[in-house]
Parts: sequence; C-alpha cells; structure tokens
Amino acid sequence: MLKYIERIKNMNLFTAYNTNIDAIKYLTKEDLEELIKNYNPNDIIKKIEEYPREIKEKIDFIARLIYSIETGKPAEVPLTNESLNNWFNKIKYNEERMGGQAGIVANLMATLKLNKVIIYTPALSKKQADMFVDYENLLYPNVEDNKLILKNVKESYWDSPTKINRIFEFKKGLEFYLGDRKIVAKENGRFIVASRPESIRIEFKEEIRKFLPQIGELVDCAFLSGYHSIKERYSDGKTAKYYFKKAKEDLNLLIKNKKIKRHLEFASISKLNIRKMVIDYILSSVESVGMDETEIANVLHVLGYEKLSDNIIKKSKIEDIIEGAKIILDNFDNLEVVQVHTIYFILFVCREDNPLSLEQLKECLEFATILAATKAKLGNINKIEDLYEGLKVPYNKHKDLFFKKYCENNYKIVSVPSRYVENPKSTVGLGDTISSGAFVYYCSFQ
Ligand code: AMP
Repeated sequence: MLKYIERIKNMNLFTAYNTNIDAIKYLTKEDLEELIKNYNPNDIIKKIEEYPREIKEKIDFIARLIYSIETGKPAEVPLTNESLNNWFNKIKYNEERMGGQAGIVANLMATLKLNKVIIYTPALSKKQADMFVDYENLLYPNVEDNKLILKNVKESYWDSPTKINRIFEFKKGLEFYLGDRKIVAKENGRFIVASRPESIRIEFKEEIRKFLPQIGELVDCAFLSGYHSIKERYSDGKTAKYYFKKAKEDLNLLIKNKKIKRHLEFASISKLNIRKMVIDYILSSVESVGMDETEIANVLHVLGYEKLSDNIIKKSKIEDIIEGAKIILDNFDNLEVVQVHTIYFILFVCREDNPLSLEQLKECLEFATILAATKAKLGNINKIEDLYEGLKVPYNKHKDLFFKKYCENNYKIVSVPSRYVENPKSTVGLGDTISSGAFVYYCSFQ
C-alpha cells in the first residue's frame, strides 16, 4: 500500500467542471409502497414500457426507478420540470455528500495526499464549498489584480446557485409488489434524479479562462467531466455547440505551455445529440478516457458498431469490451489509453508503443480496485489508512477469468478483477474513484 501512496504523492492534478450535492436516500420496501400507492399499477407499468428519458412528471420518476431496481442497472435521468423540486425536497434523505465527478475526485485525491489538487467548478455556493475536505493541498483558482492566485477552495465561494442531485440507493433483494407484479432488486444499485439548473453552465469564467495555460503548467494531469449536463439550448439562446466548442478550446489551452495528460470521464448521457458532441469535441481531444460497460456500448453505437454495442449491453463479455476498446483507440489518434470498468473487472487497452510496461499498467488497475473496494465498503475514503480495508477485500469469484496481461496485434491489454464488496455502503462515485485512481497512477509513470 505504501508503494502506491509513495508513487502518487508528488502528483499535481487539475479537475473540472461538475460539482453538486448528492442527497441520498436508502430505499426501503415501505418507501416504494408509499411512492406507488396513489397510482394504478397498470399506468406505472405502461410508463415503464415507454421508458421516459426525462422526468417531467412524478410517474416518470417512479417508472424509471422501478425499471432500474428490477433490472439492477444504475441510471441517471434529468429532472426537466423544475416545479417538481418542491416535491423532491419534501422527501427525507439519509445524508448529503459531495457529488459530481470533479467534486468527488478533488476530495478523493486531496485525501490521498497528492501534492496539489486544483478544482474548478462554475458554481461554488457556500453550501457547495462546505462539501470539500479541508486540506491545504486542495485549491481553487482565483484572479486578483489580474493575477492567478490559488486559494483554499472553502474560502473561494461566492453567491451562486447550488445543484442538488437526489440519489435513490437500493440493495439487492429489495422486494415489493406493483399490483400483482413482484419486483425484486437484481443488484445493489442506484437511481439518480439529476438536477440541471439553467443558470449553471459548463464553462470557465472568462477571467480564469485566460489562465488555463498557466494552470496547465502547474499540474501533471487533468481529469475532466461534466459535459453530460450541457443542455441543447438555453433560454438566452446559447446552444450545446457553443459550449462544446469552448470546452474543446479549453482542452487546448491547458496544454499550451506544457503537454499534460487529459482524461475524459464519460458519463451516462440520455440525449443522443449531446453524446455525439462529447465524442466529436471532447473524446477527440484527450489522451485518456474512462467508461463503464454501458458507456462504451453507447460510444460504439455512435461510431456505427451496433451489433458489438448490443452484445456488450446484453452480455458484458470481456472479449467484446476489449474489441470495443480497440475500436475506440483506432478511431481516435489522440487517445493513448482506454479504460473500462465493469462489476467484475477493470481494463486498460493501449497501443503497443505505450511507454508503460504491462506490469506498470497492471499496478494502476490494482490501485484503482483497492480504492473502489475501500469506498464501497466504508462509504467514503476519509484517510489513507482506510485503504487497508479495501486491500483486505478479496477479488470477486470470477477472478480467474479477468487477470489478463498481454501484447497482441499492436495493442497492450491489461485487466484486473474487481475486489467486490457484497454489501456495499454505497455505490455512488465508484466509477469516478476507479477512473481517477487509474489515471493519476498512470500519469505518475510519465
Ligand atoms: P460506474 O458505473 O461508472 O459508477 O462504476 C461502477 C463501478 O464500481 C463498477 O464497474 C465496479 O467496478 C465498481 N463496483 C460496483 N459495485 C461494487 C462493489 N459492491 N464493490 C466493489 N466495486 C464495485
């Protein structure tokens, strides 16, 4: 363990853009009975079949939540009717914690004692700033007298809106009746009602944007996410294209003075248009990408590999996922590593000329599984010593299928089985934890 920590302690990371507050509810049978009691079960079943992609009415939420429970598939669906906020606010949540990939990764990496973590997020209210851990290595870029000044993130807040996502967690085996239909949770999982306040835009404030080349010089790598919450059109007439163009320029500004590695964390994106733009503008501009199996299937679908995409969705076979990762690598010359995480394994696919050895690539993934197991077991990683808990978690029962480490036809392929926690405290943020751990560790070898 010390070897891992020793390796990352000199690293400097930049992360942007998305932070929010996660209000978490651990669902019980009674909660579900209460939710459905005023509806005709057939109306809910009909809605489940319609598979609404946004939440405009309460029943859209109930239907997608039940679908998620029944299939065991985690999902994130945006709330597009802001007037439902009051109803969602009345629900009693069990806890509030940091949400959004950039926020989660900033707290995790500051806790793991990286030399420096710089976080940028376009809205930082006091409530949001209070969600950050209080360490000296966690900094926010401020501009004073036309100079870039890095300050403690907790002191950098201003009067801005707060984005709150509501997360409904369920445990495998949770059981209830929808009319005569018995619903049983197939896996541990969660359903996220994502809030997308119109006033929060995924962009840098102009005054800070001009310092991006300087921020790039201060770090070794950048972990970027949040593009999935860009809307197609805003009330002031700005469009998704406007924000994606700008975001691509931001990526170029970051490497203007120093060639740092940039990672895109893909996320579940319900709108096909937005998914395509993430691929066209962002995936085409980074060195590293992290995805789960649904996300890689979605990318392959957009690239025109429908059959492979369907197979991955249905069977999650490692051979298909490796094939898919190779296709993505071949389609984007800028990429040097494609990382995919599934319940049973974590995978790196790189080109054969990648400077890291197979053993070094494996070490990155080992580190990532320990982080994920720790977070799943304890709910959060609060100090470095917590990682011993993750280290004690054994690899999952299918482990023999997933230790892979080989070169083949111009590729380097490495996978490591996950250390699977049977009764996780929480599953939120596990993917971000895996991806950021693997990425920062990867960059530490360069
Ligand atoms: P994502 O779908 O991006 O949030 O990533 C979830 C990832 O977290 C999975 O692919 C697994 O590798 C990991 N994971 C999920 N559940 C557990 C668990 N109970 N114990 C350990 N790792 C888990």
